[in-house]
Amino acid sequence: MKAQQISKVVIVGGGTAGWITAAAMARLLPSAIEIVLVESDAIGTVGVGEATIPQIRRLNGVLGLDEDDFVRKTRATFKLGIEFNNWGRRGDSYLHTFGDPGINLASLSFHQYWLKARAEGSDASLWDYSLHHKVAYANKFGRMERVGNTSMTGLAYAFHFDAGLYAAYLRHYAEKEGVKRIEGKINDVSLDGESGFIKSVGLESGQQVSGDLFIDCSGFRGLLINGSLGVGYQDWSKWLPCNRAVAVGSQRKNPLVPYTKATAHGAGWQWRIPLQHRTGNGHVFCDSFISVDEASDILLANLDAEAIGEPRPLGFTTGRREKFWKKNCVSIGLSSGFLEPLESTSIHLIQSNVSRLIELFPSAGFEPAIIEEYNRQVAHEYELVRDFLILHYHLTARDDTEFWRYCANMDVPDSLRAKMALFETGGRLWTDAEDLFREASWVQVMIGQGLMPKGYHAMADRLSSDQLQRMMRDLKAIIAKAEGSLPSHADFIAAHCNADLQ
Ligand SMILES: Cc1cc2nc3c(=O)[nH]c(=O)nc-3n(C[C@H](O)[C@H](O)[C@H](O)COP(=O)(O)OP(=O)(O)OC[C@H]3O[C@@H](n4cnc5c(N)ncnc54)[C@H](O)[C@@H]3O)c2cc1C
Repeated sequence: MKAQQISKVVIVGGGTAGWITAAAMARLLPSAIEIVLVESDAIGTVGVGEATIPQIRRLNGVLGLDEDDFVRKTRATFKLGIEFNNWGRRGDSYLHTFGDPGINLASLSFHQYWLKARAEGSDASLWDYSLHHKVAYANKFGRMERVGNTSMTGLAYAFHFDAGLYAAYLRHYAEKEGVKRIEGKINDVSLDGESGFIKSVGLESGQQVSGDLFIDCSGFRGLLINGSLGVGYQDWSKWLPCNRAVAVGSQRKNPLVPYTKATAHGAGWQWRIPLQHRTGNGHVFCDSFISVDEASDILLANLDAEAIGEPRPLGFTTGRREKFWKKNCVSIGLSSGFLEPLESTSIHLIQSNVSRLIELFPSAGFEPAIIEEYNRQVAHEYELVRDFLILHYHLTARDDTEFWRYCANMDVPDSLRAKMALFETGGRLWTDAEDLFREASWVQVMIGQGLMPKGYHAMADRLSSDQLQRMMRDLKAIIAKAEGSLPSHADFIAAHCNADLQ
C-alpha cells in the first residue's frame, strides 16, 4: 500500500470509456491533479455503442453540456425506449419505455390497478396508459417535464448517437478542460518490483508515461488490468450465450422513430438505431448455433434501407472482471466486463463507475477499504443488470430453434428465479435499491414477454369498479392530449438540433 496523494492520473485508451473518464475527472477533480490520456489511432476503438439510457442526461448535466449542441454535433436522435420484437413469441411486440405506465396511486403501483381492471373484464393493454408508448408510436418528441398540470411525470428520454462523433465531442471537451492527450501504441508496462504497482507505460516511440493512478480503458484486451496485473474474468456465457455481433450502417429511413428496435432472430437479435445521418444495425448472436456468414446474411436481409459498406464482425464474452480495481489500476469500460447491448447499459456502466471512482477517490494512498468497497459496488451493479438481461432470454415461449430452447430451459440465477415467482403470484416486485432498472422496467419486460400475474394486490380494491374505470378513462384522455401537443420527432430535431450534414 502506497501512502501518497494522487497527483497524476493516466488513462489508457481513448474510446467512449477513456473520454468519458477524462471529461468527468477533468470537470470534477481539483485542477492540481494532472490527467493524461494515451490512445493509439492505429489500434482504434470498438466503434459501436450508439444507444443510451436516460441516466446519460445526468452525465451531460455534470459536464454542463448544452443538449442541443451535443445532439447536433453527435448527429443524435432522441430515444424513449426499446421495441422488442419476437421475444416472448414470434410475432409479439412490446415497448420497454423509459417511463412508468399510468400513475401510481396511494403507494400502489399502477400495474396493480391495471391487473384489477383486467380481472373485471377490461381488455386494454398496460401500454394503453403509457405516455411514452403513445408518443413513440406517433413518432413524436418534445421536452416535457410534467404532463399538463397533473402530477404525472413527463417524458424520460435518452439518445442515439454516432459513437465516433461522441468520443470526438468528449475529447474536445476534455482537452479544453486541461486533459493532455498522447498519441501512441503502448508496448510495455513497468511495475514496481516491491509493491507490484504500475509505475509507467512505455510507448513504441520510447516515451515513458508515469503516473500515480492508472485507468485501464483499453477495451476488451484489458491491457493493464488483465495483461499486466493478471485479474481474471468471470464468464457468464451460460446465461447470456451470445458471443458475437456483425454491425453495419444503412441509409437513413423516414420516419425518424424515437426508439431503438431489438428484433429477435433464430440465434440472437438485431438492433436498429436511428441517427440523423444513417441507421446503425447489428446482429448479436451465438456462434455455437450459426456462423458469422449466416448471421451477416440475416442482418442484411433484415435492413430497411440500403447497407453502407460490409458487415463488420466483433467478438465478446459476456461477464465481468473478478476485480475492477487492483493496486493502482482501475478498469473502466470494456476492460472491466461486458454485458451485451440488449438494454444499452455499457455506456451507463462507464458513467456510473467513473462517478463511483470520483466519490471514492483516494485522498491519501490506496486504502484497501476503498478498493474493496469499489469492487463490491461495481460487482453488484453488474450482477443486477445481468439478471435483467437474462430475463429477456429466459422468459420466452419460443421453442422454434435450438438457441431459444436452450434459453427457455437454462438454469437462471436464484435471484432472478425468485423475482419471477413473486411477480407471477400477485404482480409484486422487489427491486434492489441499487438496481439500475426500476419496477416499471421489470413490469414491462415481464408482461411484454408473457408473464401475467395470477392475481392483483388487495389494495387495488380500495377503488370501486366505477372509480377504477373513471381513472383509466381519464388517464387515456390526459395522455392523448399530451401526445397531441407534441411535434414530430423529425420536426423537433429540425427546429432545435439539426446536424450540419454537409
Ligand atoms: C456489438 C456491440 C454493441 C454495443 N452497443 C452498445 C450500445 O448500444 N449502448 C451502449 O451503451 N454500449 C454498447 N456497447 C458497448 C460500447 O461500445 C462500449 O462500452 C464503449 O464503446 C466503450 O468502449 P471502450 O472505450 O471501453 O473500448 P474501445 O472503444 O475498444 O477503446 C479502447 C481504446 O484503447 C486504446 N488502446 C488499446 N490498446 C492500446 C495500446 N496498446 N496502446 C494505446 N492505446 C490502446 C484504443 O486505441 C482505444 O482508444 C456495444 C458493444 C458491442 C461489442
